[in-house]
Amino acid sequence: MAETHDLSVAPPFVLRAELLTPLGTGGLRFEPDARIEVDAAGRLARVEPWRDEGPFEAGPVLDLRPWVVLPGLVDLHAHLPQLPSAGVGAGLDLLTWLERYIFPLEQRFDVPTAELIAPAAFRTFARAGTTTVVAYGALWPDSLEVCFRAAEAHGIRAVIGKVMMDRLSYDNERDPAEVLELSLSQSAELCARWNGRDDGRLAYAFTPRFAVSCSAEMLRRSAEAAAEAGAYWQTHLSEDRGEIAEVRRLFPEAIDYTDVYDRAGGLTPRAILAHAIHLSDREIARLAETGAAVAHCPSSNLFLASGAMHLSRYLAAGVRLGLGSDVAGGPDASLFSVMRAGAYTQNVLRAARGDDGTPLSPGDWLRLGSLGGAAVLGIDDRIGSIEEGKEADLVVIDPSVTQPLEGVGSDLADGVEEMLSRLIFRPHPEMVRGAWVRGHLLPS
Ligand SMILES: [Zn+2]
Repeated sequence: MAETHDLSVAPPFVLRAELLTPLGTGGLRFEPDARIEVDAAGRLARVEPWRDEGPFEAGPVLDLRPWVVLPGLVDLHAHLPQLPSAGVGAGLDLLTWLERYIFPLEQRFDVPTAELIAPAAFRTFARAGTTTVVAYGALWPDSLEVCFRAAEAHGIRAVIGKVMMDRLSYDNERDPAEVLELSLSQSAELCARWNGRDDGRLAYAFTPRFAVSCSAEMLRRSAEAAAEAGAYWQTHLSEDRGEIAEVRRLFPEAIDYTDVYDRAGGLTPRAILAHAIHLSDREIARLAETGAAVAHCPSSNLFLASGAMHLSRYLAAGVRLGLGSDVAGGPDASLFSVMRAGAYTQNVLRAARGDDGTPLSPGDWLRLGSLGGAAVLGIDDRIGSIEEGKEADLVVIDPSVTQPLEGVGSDLADGVEEMLSRLIFRPHPEMVRGAWVRGHLLPS
């Protein structure tokens, strides 16, 4: 059998490593010594315990022991132009933070800036273990074109959209009615060019920023355009108290914030709503009823002092939900850091109010960050777990760097839950050693 240590070898190949994955039927699968066969098309042909006997015509063997292979993570919410600002502005309220740090950054996101930032952003996501990212661009369509081309070249799986705003915007030179039509036609053109490209690896999301930045007509017509094109529709919902008050003032006819999007026809299973942390029982029930999904972004919610989401209420109601880094509202692109922030948030809620349900296990957080996100995107039949027949979107991690004491062993009674717990609570910037989409190694 041919062996290689070159992670960039093209499929077909066989990985030998520890394996940990959620399963579509529930629960986790752990194999201490797994054989993962990736075929020439980048699909998982076999996932089984290692056996020494052949046949090995499946390709060269990459022996990655003692590293562990997990499904690639799915980040449901990020902002490409904002990455340079990550980690700045902790504790500011949302609207001040936007005006002070974010709008100036997005305003400058022209073609040369996008050419610099987009490829670096995708490498950053891959290094964090993210193989699918759902992202906002800026207002300018030519910069979006650059983002899509960068994603196409990099190999990451990406859903991207041009930000749409016809009020409270950084495009102050045009009249709002003109902006509305222009924004719709530019978005439709980008969608026609990129939605579904490379057998669905790239997709488009109509992206009205949030209700404060959009007229009712912008919300309604963008939702209509997304439905017509079979594209996603993404926006922000109920992130911050100041924002909620502003939405109440701008949309006095709506019952609540969620109802603003409901009236626009935006609440469908193709909708991805970031944050949604201050919802009433009525709003949560309405999301569950319509199938509109939530990108839960706890590290961003802590960083911008937005609030603490009662995750258990959403899960109990059956809201479709995955995780988002919200960089740069979130300080870090790593979904492992997002899981940690989510777990701490639930701990605080439980301690303070005694009502946030059973704590999620590390395995539950891994599921939300992989298969949960894939299900939100409606592609859990293709990615999100390591199961035969799916596409080989994988990451390999060296857990030894998360050990508390250098050189003091992983053999000290560590089981699989303990290993996964350390990936979440002691994530190391270099623990992800490789990330593949359809069996192709992503530059990182
Ligand atoms: Zn955001």
